Amino acid sequence: MIQFLSQQNPEIFHNTTVLVRLDLNVPLIDGRVAVSDAGRIHASIPTLEYLRNAGARTVIVSHIGRESHETLRPVADFLNTIIPVDFVSAYDTNMQPGDIVMLENLRQHPGEETNDSSFVAKLVTGIDYYVNDAFAVCHRTHASVVGVPQVLGHTKCFAGFQLEREIHFLDQGLHPQHPAVLIMGGAKFETKLPVITSMLPQVGHVIMGGALLNNFLVRMGYEIGKSLVDEHANIDGLISNEKIIIPQRVISQGEQRGIERDITEVLLNERIVDIAPSSFDIADIADVLHNAKTIIWNGPMGNYENGYTAGTEKLIRMIAGTDAMKIIGGGDSVALIEQLHLSEKFDFLSTGGGAMLEYLAQNGSLPGIAVLQK
Ligand code: ADP
Ligand code: MG
Repeated sequence: MIQFLSQQNPEIFHNTTVLVRLDLNVPLIDGRVAVSDAGRIHASIPTLEYLRNAGARTVIVSHIGRESHETLRPVADFLNTIIPVDFVSAYDTNMQPGDIVMLENLRQHPGEETNDSSFVAKLVTGIDYYVNDAFAVCHRTHASVVGVPQVLGHTKCFAGFQLEREIHFLDQGLHPQHPAVLIMGGAKFETKLPVITSMLPQVGHVIMGGALLNNFLVRMGYEIGKSLVDEHANIDGLISNEKIIIPQRVISQGEQRGIERDITEVLLNERIVDIAPSSFDIADIADVLHNAKTIIWNGPMGNYENGYTAGTEKLIRMIAGTDAMKIIGGGDSVALIEQLHLSEKFDFLSTGGGAMLEYLAQNGSLPGIAVLQK
């Protein structure tokens, strides 16, 4: 059993020190948090509010960026506009009940990623309870994700409000209402193939998009020119599966800006860069989406960084218009939904990309969640 923070008596936290692992890894633009990128910060507020009101001394830990020298200070500044928080190099015994502090980027310490026992020992010093509200790192065996709860013991560990939401909704993806559809885009087959394989028995259809589609087209004997393919992907087990839906119209780019083509018409010197929006109007896809009771989607339909967002935008509008339970993940897809101001049309936007994929592929067992259950 996982102990959910939402189900505890807040009094147990009064006058205790609680280490909270958050995922505050947001992009910084000119060293600042852009309001439009602050989704993960806002998702952390319910847990922080709860602990503050309970009279806990809350110590926030998180990582940010890819380089170990990056700082969380701008995130603390942003958070401080919502809830009072002090950015500190170490917390001390002067903290009062209800106080919140944030420590520097965990990944400045090499022991975080190696789950080093002496770094874990440092993290748990003076700590009474641990709360994990960082779903996006629950697939990582890091000190702040796995090491700390292992040392404290599961009776002192809790899943925060956002982690509870992730588990609740992704479990509805694992055990969907039928008919259910899985939509997979993006480029990295190694992270998507295990999801497709493990979810196939649960869903009626899998719609392929993004560069993943190119692997299918090659195997089906179509010319794909210079399109991106994942050389290492082995799709033998999927290629003749009748649940897999292949969009029939794509955007193909040669010397000029991409143009719409049938999948049979792509030229040798071109590359497929997006799913043509019209693909989603063709009956087999439109009906499948329209009739679905559950839609699970991860990964963009096209090479959006180069402006090929039309396929993904069309898909977003199509999904938004259905009555299905809508479970979406992947930073890029969620960002596009937010840009289109359609977030409220979706039941659930996961804060985890890789973690969501592993959750679906591993039937819900991630190291950071399993350790809370023991
Ligand atoms: P996610 O991050 O959503 O999990 P991936 O990391 O697997 O997905 O892939 C995202 C990348 O896939 C983006 O950089 C996007 O530009 C790229 N992509 C999608 N479709 C294509 C395509 N047809 N050609 C080239 N790149 C593509
Ligand atoms: Mg990615």
